[in-house]
Amino acid sequence: MKNVFNFSAGPAMLPAAVMAQAQQEFINWRDSGCSVMEVSHRGADFIEIAAQAEQDLRDLMNVPENFKVLFLQGGGRGQFAAVPLNISTQDDTSLHLVSGSWSKGAVAEAAKYNNAKVIGEVTEHNGFQYMAKPAAADIDQSAAYLHFCPNETVDGIAFDWLPEAGDVPLVADMSSNILSRPVDVSKYGIIYAGAQKNIGPSGLSVVIVREDLVGKARQSTPSIFDYELMAKNDSMYNTPPTFSWYLAGLVFKWLKAQGGVEAMASLNQHKADTLYKAIDESSFYRNNVHPENRSIMNVPFHLADPALDKVFLEKSKEAGLLALKGHRSVGGMRASIYNAMSIDGVEALVSFMKDFEEKHA
Ligand SMILES: *Cc1c(COP(=O)(O)O)cnc(C)c1O
Repeated sequence: MKNVFNFSAGPAMLPAAVMAQAQQEFINWRDSGCSVMEVSHRGADFIEIAAQAEQDLRDLMNVPENFKVLFLQGGGRGQFAAVPLNISTQDDTSLHLVSGSWSKGAVAEAAKYNNAKVIGEVTEHNGFQYMAKPAAADIDQSAAYLHFCPNETVDGIAFDWLPEAGDVPLVADMSSNILSRPVDVSKYGIIYAGAQKNIGPSGLSVVIVREDLVGKARQSTPSIFDYELMAKNDSMYNTPPTFSWYLAGLVFKWLKAQGGVEAMASLNQHKADTLYKAIDESSFYRNNVHPENRSIMNVPFHLADPALDKVFLEKSKEAGLLALKGHRSVGGMRASIYNAMSIDGVEALVSFMKDFEEKHA
């Protein structure tokens, strides 16, 4: 098999050790003669790994007792609808920070179900994209919740401050940075993530929701999105995405073996620093995000001469560096360097970029 480094934004690479284990168990899981995807979700074996996955995630993120952890379907976008349906009425206001395209998408979806109001947006700051923290006075205390995305996958814009929202529950879309660094879960109302960036296969969404926000779903909420119904049924009101759940469990075990989220955070910072340094030291490449808002998971960059984009992508692919094309809305390149990407991958990319610059500058 070809040795490659896969920089896909999502679905993204998974840890090689996890993929090897899944392969080994694929057709004979726990010596049952069956695949994990061929057995009942109600069977003792599956229930055990499902519960273990939840416990491992709780351990990794230090999830307090008064939070439910749900394994649902519908990815990240499913929660764009599930959140307003579960914790707001038609007449409620939801507040939104728009730091990039995903949080913008969340506003549009919420607007179908409540009065969605944008209270902060990315601005241009000396040619850099900057996300300012909203003033506490701008946060309407009667709002049902405040939604934001701390890591914008497409735009490479991130922030690690929390809005000072008082009693207004904070709802964070952590699809592309969950488990990449420690977070204090107790400060949030809801954290959700589509799995395909940092957890496992697409389709699954992990939802961590504070108990007092469970049980408020409006009557019209689809049952499979109803947090209370799902929590009561251990996320098995309908058939869960069993294979994705199993694989997520393997990833959680792998993360624990790596030293957990703290260890990942320092490795992730090191990877990101290595790549941004290479970009900043060259006039051939540039990144337009304010240094305070640079994502350590998704690193977009442009070539000074966009006419070279095509050849950059061809040559990088030949060199085994895959999926570097930027999102169509941003253009240029993007390297997604989630937990599963090794420092070796980042170093290989940096070295390729230097060679490419020497040949084409
Ligand atoms: C990928 C992504 C989504 C969308 O996830 P789907 O599973 O495709 O619905 C939402 N938010 C963020 C931040 C993402 O990175």
